Amino acid sequence: MKPKRSRLDRFLSSHLSIKRKDVRLLLAQGRVKVDHRCANDIQQLVDEYTHVQFDGQVLQDKTPSYIQMYKPQGVVSATKDPKHRTVIDLLPAEHPDNLHIVGRLDLNSTGLLLLTNDGRWSRRISEPGSHIKKRYLVTLDNPVSQVVIDVFAEGIYFSFEDITTRPVSLSLLDSHTAEVILQEGRYHQIKRMFGHFQIKVLSLHRTAVGNLLLDCDLAEGQSRHLTALEVASIFDRDNK
Ligand code: URA
Repeated sequence: MKPKRSRLDRFLSSHLSIKRKDVRLLLAQGRVKVDHRCANDIQQLVDEYTHVQFDGQVLQDKTPSYIQMYKPQGVVSATKDPKHRTVIDLLPAEHPDNLHIVGRLDLNSTGLLLLTNDGRWSRRISEPGSHIKKRYLVTLDNPVSQVVIDVFAEGIYFSFEDITTRPVSLSLLDSHTAEVILQEGRYHQIKRMFGHFQIKVLSLHRTAVGNLLLDCDLAEGQSRHLTALEVASIFDRDNK
């Protein structure tokens, strides 16, 4: 989701009801602070979470929210759905506004699901170049051979998207259970990759996104806010 951004002169002209050409003088007089620093560029971009002050008065101060949920089976990773319960329906009544989902899980998949209203954060996690690792525990209807492991590591061509998947790590825990680590999130990616070998996925459970693990104290359907450390640690280098 793209954050809504506007130029600082446009933002100030609408919040202070002044002409855009008068903003330059306010900046020169050191009367405007953006994220607690004196602003000097009328073209600077501000978004809904940028802290903005004028003459010491706060014009905008919104705190973003970051939530992890243990998604159960049969609940849709969407904010609205005509047929099924959504993950938003599982949140406590007093939940933050305008949440969106960071990296969906299929209807029958379970595990770690992230929700936020901070588009900058979700974009950093989801953009194709981020390569943030997502870990899954997968059970399968047939045993997995070394060929499957090798092909996952090389990548599989998806003709619909005309792409080859980035290398996927597949480690066997027993003959029918595997840990799979993706660096991207293509539509039904794990099911389609096993489907390539006529292996059916019986269950799929996400255990981690980057360094963030599903909280073992959460029961299915429960959620909690992330700490500031967790919000930042998703991007730590050892996930790359
Ligand atoms: N891959 C899938 O096929 N489904 C998911 O829910 C996640 C990854």
